[in-house]
Amino acid sequence: MKRTTPLLPNKYLRTIFALALCWLCTIANAQTNSSHLTLSYCIDPDWMPYEAIRNGEHVGISSDYISLLAASTGYQLELFITKSWQESLESLARGDCDFIAMLNKTPARERTMVFTDTFFTASNVLVAKTGTNVVHGYDAMDGKVLAVVRGYRHDEYINRYYPHIPLVQFDTEMAAIQAVADGHADVAVGSLLAVNSLIYTHGLNSLQVIGLAQPHDMLRIGVSRRLGQGTSTFPLSSNELVARFNTAIADISELQHVQIYRKWNNVKYVERTNYRVFLWPLASVLLILFGVIWRNRTVAAHNLKLTRANAELERLQEQLVEKNRNLEFLSIHDPLTGLYNRNFMLQRAEEAVNAFERFKLPVSLIVMDVDRFKSINDKFGHSVGDRVLVEISKLAQRSLREVDIVSRWGGEEFLVICPNTDEKEASVLAERIRSRCEANTIPPVQVPITCSFGIAEIQQGDDFSSWFDNADKCLLRAKSEGRNRVVCNDDIG
Ligand code: GH3
Ligand code: MG
Ligand code: MG
Repeated sequence: MKRTTPLLPNKYLRTIFALALCWLCTIANAQTNSSHLTLSYCIDPDWMPYEAIRNGEHVGISSDYISLLAASTGYQLELFITKSWQESLESLARGDCDFIAMLNKTPARERTMVFTDTFFTASNVLVAKTGTNVVHGYDAMDGKVLAVVRGYRHDEYINRYYPHIPLVQFDTEMAAIQAVADGHADVAVGSLLAVNSLIYTHGLNSLQVIGLAQPHDMLRIGVSRRLGQGTSTFPLSSNELVARFNTAIADISELQHVQIYRKWNNVKYVERTNYRVFLWPLASVLLILFGVIWRNRTVAAHNLKLTRANAELERLQEQLVEKNRNLEFLSIHDPLTGLYNRNFMLQRAEEAVNAFERFKLPVSLIVMDVDRFKSINDKFGHSVGDRVLVEISKLAQRSLREVDIVSRWGGEEFLVICPNTDEKEASVLAERIRSRCEANTIPPVQVPITCSFGIAEIQQGDDFSSWFDNADKCLLRAKSEGRNRVVCNDDIG
């Protein structure tokens, strides 16, 4: 029997078969596992620091998570560029992108997406003008108009659970926050990191976070339910992809989470003082302070004027008193010798006469005259004469008693009233003056200066004139008898 030779030996066939099998396996693997698989995703193009499109690039927290997921799954994840969050949601619905990188799960969104596990959480806050009362949660909104971003979870959440809160919708968080700054809305809601970033980078100092807003952001990937269906060429269903993503999310270490958070979180706690709160009280305090200072200064100036005026008045009063004192002194004293003057002496003499008439007590009159005084003037000059008169006055005062009243009667003539003194006693006084004058020399007068004295005790029926005449007669007698002597009325009978 002729044995046919096979075209290829069996061992070659087995090898080719094995190779073909391997190739098929490789194809199959590539279809399910391969790094060549591409998925497109959408993001919010303006939601920093969570995510944004800057110069056509995906930046922000979700960009780092997408990188980790791409590395972990081996899929090529490509950004589908949109201009707004709304457009991103519409793009997913149309099938232009396969998943959305970072969003909250809501009942409405669950109709079009399957969600992964949460990979990032954050707080939501309420923003209002500085000075607004702190509000926690929507229950305390109290009729305030709330600004939200159209299509954000808050929009859906508030409509569902707080339908009474008046809403105004904006395309971006920035627009919502700006509306509050401009007074078009009372409060805006947004995620803490984004709100803080916007306030800080745009210098919206008139705004502040006034409280927390529920619910917290629990951010996940939302995979389109259209994946693996219809025209989709992706080999996995949306649920299968979510499972792959969940595995990758679970593999992200805590350190990687922290690094991403720290890289993008720019929350800065800027302590701002609300100066307006202090402005009015401060202004009032300053006003009162200035008022008090001004008043004190005015009062002080007024007091100073008063003090000066009082001092001037006191000075004038003292001057007046002094002048009056001088006038009073001059009115009764002789300006040269300081003895009582003639006018004063006349009054006192009248009093003495009256006193004698009532009490009958003796009273004597001494008339004293400087001897040859004219020759002193002539020899030494009038001023030396004056000095002699002053010295004789002092000598007479020293020689008389306290009760005696001595005066300059005129020229170089002196009159003394000696109360309770008879002629004899008066003559003793006169003699004392006479002898002291005689014993004295007054420079530059080298010779003794003498005086003559006439003494008369008042007699019953005397008035001053007759009494004086009696004394004067005695003086004349003393002069005529040679001067420098004392003559009493009794002596001349
Ligand atoms: P007799 O002894 O007679 O009294 O002589 P007398 O020179 O003292 O008397 P007389 O009456 O002649 O002269 C008095 C003089 O006294 C004349 C006058 O110039 C002088 N006299 C009067 N008042 C003053 C005065 O106030 N100062 C001076 N320096 N002289 C006076
Ligand atoms: Mg005389
Ligand atoms: Mg004389």
